[in-house]
Amino acid sequence: MLQLKDLRKSYHVGDTVTHALDDVSISFRNQEFVAILGPSGSGKTTLLNVVGGLDRYDSGDLVINGKSTKNFKETDWDAYRNNSVGFVFQNYNLISHLSIIANVELGMNLSGVSAAERHQRAVNALTQVGLKDHISKNPNQLSGGQMQRVAIARALANDPDILLCDEPTGALDTKTSEQIMKLIKELSKDRLVVMVTHNSELAQEYATRIVNFKDGKILNDSNPFTPEKEKDTFKLKRTKMSYWNAIKLSFTNIMTKKGRTTLTAFASSIGIISIAVVLALSNGFQKQIDTTMSKALAKYPVTINQTATDASNVQDRNESNKNVKNHGYITIEKDRLQESTHQNKIDQKYVNYVKKINPNYANSISYQRGVNLNILTRKNHKVKPVQFSPISADSNGSQAAAQMRMQAISATGLGSSVFPTTLRKSKNNFLKENYQLLSGVWPDKSTDLVLVTDNKNKLNINILKNLGLKVKTGERLKYQKLVGQKFKIVANDDYYQKLPTGMFIPQKVSNSMYEHSKTTLRIVGVIRPKNENSMALLSSGIAYSDQLAQNIIKKNKNSAIVKAQKKTTQNVMTGQNMNSREKKQMMQSIGGSTIPTSIMIYPNDFDAKDKVLDYLDKWNKGKKKQDKIIYTDMSSAVTSMTGGLLNGITTVLVAFAAISLVTSMIMIGILTYTSVLERTKEIGILKALGARKKDITRVFDAETFILGIFSGVLGVFIAWLLVFPINSVLYSITDLSNVAQLNPVHAVVLVIISTILTMVGGHLPARMAAKKDAAIALRSE
Ligand code: ADP
Ligand code: MG
Repeated sequence: MLQLKDLRKSYHVGDTVTHALDDVSISFRNQEFVAILGPSGSGKTTLLNVVGGLDRYDSGDLVINGKSTKNFKETDWDAYRNNSVGFVFQNYNLISHLSIIANVELGMNLSGVSAAERHQRAVNALTQVGLKDHISKNPNQLSGGQMQRVAIARALANDPDILLCDEPTGALDTKTSEQIMKLIKELSKDRLVVMVTHNSELAQEYATRIVNFKDGKILNDSNPFTPEKEKDTFKLKRTKMSYWNAIKLSFTNIMTKKGRTTLTAFASSIGIISIAVVLALSNGFQKQIDTTMSKALAKYPVTINQTATDASNVQDRNESNKNVKNHGYITIEKDRLQESTHQNKIDQKYVNYVKKINPNYANSISYQRGVNLNILTRKNHKVKPVQFSPISADSNGSQAAAQMRMQAISATGLGSSVFPTTLRKSKNNFLKENYQLLSGVWPDKSTDLVLVTDNKNKLNINILKNLGLKVKTGERLKYQKLVGQKFKIVANDDYYQKLPTGMFIPQKVSNSMYEHSKTTLRIVGVIRPKNENSMALLSSGIAYSDQLAQNIIKKNKNSAIVKAQKKTTQNVMTGQNMNSREKKQMMQSIGGSTIPTSIMIYPNDFDAKDKVLDYLDKWNKGKKKQDKIIYTDMSSAVTSMTGGLLNGITTVLVAFAAISLVTSMIMIGILTYTSVLERTKEIGILKALGARKKDITRVFDAETFILGIFSGVLGVFIAWLLVFPINSVLYSITDLSNVAQLNPVHAVVLVIISTILTMVGGHLPARMAAKKDAAIALRSE
């Protein structure tokens, strides 16, 4: 059944060539006990390794069950070793970190025997070699003879046709040797046993055939065998180690070096720790910023102006700043500003739509109507004109009203503003929420005015002069001098005088004009922004209600100047020709239009803002581009900017932390390599049992897999622990609580990253392990 034909095998080391097998031809019976006798270095082990498929012959042929192995592939040899051959070594070659039973089961792991059957067969094999009572012991708790019995049980577990024993009694005393020989003799009744020994007495006593070997050659054979021509009855079952078994094997190995593993895992988790802490901090800071911002920015209104600017359109993002070559010509460019401005067609329908917004989302809406108030004041019987007309009234051209307003606030604070209208009285009141009453009462009637100062209680001198007050810079004005001040509003028909030319001019102000007016306005209170965080949404000066503006417009709707202006595109006051936009503005300033120039919607809180925007977006749905109403949401621009900044910082920090991840990856590589060196013998044993290269790789990949998960989890855990002291330090410095927050998603991703990186780092050494020569591996001690 097993036939060696002119087998040759030589080793080349430097210039010397050793002919370990020198033209060996011999045949074995299916059942016999062959002892190979020979001095040390004569090639006996080489012969066994070649016969057992652990080592390859150079030339000749090995015929198994009538099949030549000349064209055997690596996997064929693996399967052959696993199915047909059992090895017993002089030094037992047990895997010390596995239990006895696990050692015996090892070969069956590869041949895909079910767990229950594996266990049963291992118990049977151990019973057969007489170790039934020692099953639960570890290899290092056994005597030499007992260890050799375990090795024999392991070789028997897969019920091989050939048992190859390389000096099985070499390390045992005489008495134990005899017991082992008896056992092997027993086993040879069902199979071919080829035993290498240099103990000729034992060979004579037990073997049925003795072959003398010297210098790679057979000297004589006590019982030669010439087989008849055999039919090819060779059959093999492919071997395979499951991932799960690889993990179990590596896990028991890792458990034998807990200290080292923990230390390694800790060292390699430092990268994970630093990334996790950076992410936790940035995550928390982002949340802090979001809440702080949303508190502050909720006060920014969503603004709808007659002219909206799409800022993104103004500048080409991708355009570089570099000068181009002088081509000798000019390229005509589109009007970017024109392209990026959008005329919002605000009409009564849209105003009504906005008015119907849910007060739970936005309870305050303010309108700029651009109407001139013709106001007079009287002091000591002297009537003077007063100005607190809204800034937007004298704005011209395409500049957006909101922009103007913002500029006005930041510049001199000159002017006046309209405070928002509350949709639902019972709900939050814009003025009371953001402003503090310094003197007087809150406005109630439409004719009630308030004077707005800055948060230092200061007011620009011109504002007061415009109100008709005689004041000096630096003077301290008592509230009583302001609260209670009365003004009169004059109707257009009393205010403007029609000239014979058809043009209109304001009349000279007079006592009779003052007395004729029925609308008396009164400053009822002085207010200022509540604290440094509340934004000055109203400009310094007089603030009045939208109801007042609406009443004035209503009153002047049918005035002569409005009627006249309606009919012509010529400005009825200056005689200038106007385009449609200019006319619209003129109409608004003389109270001929009820359409506001701009609308500001104040969301109740940050979350409500989205609902407000949704509501405004709904209007645009399905509308043509030119009919859409574009709003400006200043707060979103600010948040996205700071968000981007924080993201940038986080990226840089994570990149730095990632360097330590790479370091730990290299470390894992080195460690796996050390482990490979340590486990060389184990690799040899696994190969002798039929493990494929892939299986060996799998075992080491499994080890780094476990290590990766462990260090990832450890890193995340330590980072989570660190969050507490970090937060208490931050709290004592900044008064912000719970800044660092570890996002569970980040934690999971980091564990996955750690696992992948560790496996990548360990895979190369694992491949090296797989390539190790089994014969050499087993010779190593
Ligand atoms: P035995 O088992 O009879 O003592 P071996 O089969 O181990 O003999 O070795 C036979 C010869 O081959 C020895 O001279 C040994 O030095 C040589 N040899 C065995 N393995 C190698 C190897 N991997 N590289 C070089 N020489 C080797
Ligand atoms: Mg040997």
